[in-house]
Amino acid sequence: MAWVLAGSGRRRGYAVHVMTSEANSIDLTQPQGPVLVVGGAGYIGSHCVALLQRRGVEVAVFDDLSTGHAEAISAPLVVGSLGDREAIAAALEAHRPSAVIHFAAKCYVGESVTDPAIYYRENVHYTWNLLEEMRAASVSDIVFSSTCATYGEPREVPIPDDHPQDPINPYGRTKLHMEHMMRDYSRAYGMRYAALRYFNAAGAATAGGIGEDHSPETHLIPLVLEVALGQREKIMVFGDDYETRDGTCIRDYIHVDDLGDAHLRALAHLQAGRGDLECHLGTGNGFTVMEIIEAAREITGQAIPAEVVARREGDPAMLVAGGSRAFDVLGWRPARGDVRDVIRDAW
Ligand code: UDP
Repeated sequence: MAWVLAGSGRRRGYAVHVMTSEANSIDLTQPQGPVLVVGGAGYIGSHCVALLQRRGVEVAVFDDLSTGHAEAISAPLVVGSLGDREAIAAALEAHRPSAVIHFAAKCYVGESVTDPAIYYRENVHYTWNLLEEMRAASVSDIVFSSTCATYGEPREVPIPDDHPQDPINPYGRTKLHMEHMMRDYSRAYGMRYAALRYFNAAGAATAGGIGEDHSPETHLIPLVLEVALGQREKIMVFGDDYETRDGTCIRDYIHVDDLGDAHLRALAHLQAGRGDLECHLGTGNGFTVMEIIEAAREITGQAIPAEVVARREGDPAMLVAGGSRAFDVLGWRPARGDVRDVIRDAW
């Protein structure tokens, strides 16, 4: 099985993990023991925290609140930066997690091009800080946010899980460095990791209460809904001359609660000793920009004026998840796989 990159072994600082036959019957919806969610006050992190709590898992959050929102979570919060090794060590000491879920990262492609130093510092260096402190505290398991941007310009679409990784911008490159670090730490020190490569995260908690709030907002679905709310005059469509069914870009929009569910399953998978995992998280369904706008018009009942403008630099025509590693390995299925549900929840 190609996806099992490391399993058990004699590793410094960590318990030896042995694949057992019970692993096959483990409940993959349920992590074992307390979890420290790094970046847990952010968009995807806060949804994952709520899901962990609904499943009865003890959770603490480590977040610098640079973009996250304390009011989005009701869990113990350590306000600290991953640039501060002592703060990380103190959080691990105070909460003694069985595992870490790591969402904290910079995630804007354009900014990564104009100011890559921030991305190398916060995504690569800070993740190294986290791994080192986890190693010192003998916390071996980590699930973290990677991205389909690590694939670069896709050579085939739908994109298989084992598509070559050749990112075309600093953001994607720093995420790939994070993956490589985990892989090397797994081999050398017995760290167990799951790298989950998201397609387009969207939507808001099905249970209500929290949603997406970026400043400035750059993502299509929240921007379209801001137009519907009258907070913005119109939506700019970045190019209609792509080789797609209506000329606008196709993306695979995955519900944020479905992402959270995949993280919990990935963690249970690691804790069952089933080996490291690298896979992407998407629905396998692609929608054009115009189809998203049209669906939003139907759902909101608002006109949502749109204007076609020039292409945005660095946007591939089509990004859609192929492959089924997350389905096969984690038994994961997007529960909100219809993009109309995603838009409805966001609305
Ligand atoms: N997009 C657009 N207008 C906007 C924002 C986004 O046409 O104001 C398009 C963008 O070109 C891409 C898709 O919507 O094809 C999704 O973009 P988003 O920024 O939400 O996510 P990304 O694909 O960049 O991760």
